[in-house]
Amino acid sequence: MQQLSKISTHTLAQAGQRSSWQAELADGVSDVGELCRMLALDLPDGQYAPKQFGLRVPKSFVAKMKKGDINDPLLRQILPDVKETVAAAGYTHDPLAENTQNPIKGLLHKYKNRVLITTTGACAVHCRYCFRQHFDYQANMPNTQQIAQIANYVANKPEVNEVIFSGGDPLNLSHRRLNDWFDAINALPNIKTMRIHTRMPVVLPSRVDGDLLDLLKNSPKNIVMVLHINHANEIDETLQQKCQLLKQAGVTLLNQTVLLKGVNDDATTLCQLSHALFGAGILPYYLHILDKVQGAAHFDVPLTRAVEIYWQMLENLSGYLVPKLVQELPNKPYKTPVNLYP
Ligand code: SF4
Repeated sequence: MQQLSKISTHTLAQAGQRSSWQAELADGVSDVGELCRMLALDLPDGQYAPKQFGLRVPKSFVAKMKKGDINDPLLRQILPDVKETVAAAGYTHDPLAENTQNPIKGLLHKYKNRVLITTTGACAVHCRYCFRQHFDYQANMPNTQQIAQIANYVANKPEVNEVIFSGGDPLNLSHRRLNDWFDAINALPNIKTMRIHTRMPVVLPSRVDGDLLDLLKNSPKNIVMVLHINHANEIDETLQQKCQLLKQAGVTLLNQTVLLKGVNDDATTLCQLSHALFGAGILPYYLHILDKVQGAAHFDVPLTRAVEIYWQMLENLSGYLVPKLVQELPNKPYKTPVNLYP
């Protein structure tokens, strides 16, 4: 089967047609009414109408939600809410001050040993709490020439040994475009590791196809994939199988979670998540405090509550299942560990 799918994706690419994941991506849900029909929900008029950052979710992710449950933890992550329009004190469009840290288009150089590339502004899913939901992708989208410029910048920074592909979601790129990035970075001797930050295997598992696995397998660099999973219900058998294929291709799988009110803000839910991740071959890496991006204040979990939850996790999980509790603060050259002894 694997061989067959490989042949078909190559053939489609040669013929200039969409591969099956691209067809699924295009078939995603962007209308709240359609989503409600799929989930048998009857929502009050106006409360869930998208304002600026539209609804976007693949049907394969909707299939993991419980029908008739407005509080489903996966639904809450993607359903636009009128609360997003409320201006909250301390919440801004650029909570991490990233607009001041891009020396060339498409490249963020915040940390000493690594750079981050915003390869695309597109994602298969629009997470309501996304800290880059107001990011100016138009001004930061590298074209073919800029791929070479970025590679040149990185080649001339011997202290940089890791490149992070981010976005948007880098696996939203076509195979050809991703291949261009891999070719450019594979050629740099100072780069030891390529890291991919993605939600695609979780929300659109068909993206992990033969072409992608070949690309990952054939890279001479260490490949780290940091998934973004917030709740154990996001991990099903299909994702587990895809994770196995990724591991067979030599990929190290890590996960980052955002602590979100109404989604995962209790220790039991987070302990279940850690176990489910480990069962799928993924190590819990970071538990992030919400970035204060405008429109996401209703997901905030106070720091004191976060610390209380974290101590309960420490009490109930083996050390290797406890992610690091961190917070990203503007202009800091690292993720800041949360003080557990306030
Ligand atoms: S997948 Fe990541 S980048 Fe895309 S909307 Fe969600 S959090 Fe933001």
